Amino acid sequence: MGRIAEVRTEVAGNLAAIRERIKAACARAGRDPEGVKLVGVTKTVPIERIREGIEAGIDILGENYIQEAKRKREALAGLPVSWHCIGRLQTNKAKTAVECCDWIETLDREALAIELDRRAEIAGRKVAVLIQVNIGGEETKSGIRPDELNSFFKLVSGFDWLDVRGLMALPPFFDQPERARPYFRQMRAFMDSLRRTSPRPERLTELSMGMSGDFEVAIEEGATLVRIGTALFGSRHKEE
Ligand SMILES: *Cc1c(COP(=O)(O)O)cnc(C)c1O
Repeated sequence: MGRIAEVRTEVAGNLAAIRERIKAACARAGRDPEGVKLVGVTKTVPIERIREGIEAGIDILGENYIQEAKRKREALAGLPVSWHCIGRLQTNKAKTAVECCDWIETLDREALAIELDRRAEIAGRKVAVLIQVNIGGEETKSGIRPDELNSFFKLVSGFDWLDVRGLMALPPFFDQPERARPYFRQMRAFMDSLRRTSPRPERLTELSMGMSGDFEVAIEEGATLVRIGTALFGSRHKEE
């Protein structure tokens, strides 16, 4: 019992500290903190610790692995939280993803768009998606190439069951967060440009970028969703 109380204090304390940092970053950028939503990243985080996070006020969870999302969603059924898929999604997992994720942040190829659209139609539910952009042009990362973004956006905007809400990126990793700034800024420029050409610019509201090490810089550059794991739940390598 004592240990659980400690964990609760720790996650709630981390959350409070992160919210302060979000507010400060918003103040520096002249933004309303209401415009930044926190996605609690739960890969490898045990159910009980996630529950503490939800009790502390986290209302969006991000999962990398669909099977894990499914299991956790069942375990946490009924709690007021929405689920975002933030990991690479195999096409053969599209059905499960549509069933257990409210948002898919990692739409990165045509085959996946086709399958998600088909599965969403069968489920009778429009699925909110973000287009993942490989902003650093890294071979090890998924995402649409920046020079293909416009045509991919046009393509997926034509799918009836996909609701394209914006962009997501995972820039190269740097020890100094400042160095990620140009990538975040470029993402913002892509968003602005898509809004200018989209027939429904009012739907394009979300820019998912920034993690534990660099979310403040991302917010200064326009992030509306920050995906935070270790700063919130603690190190993933630590033994529970
Ligand atoms: C793990 C992960 C995060 C969170 O990373 P932290 O550094 O732990 O905050 C964010 N986004 C994606 C896509 C991830 O895989």
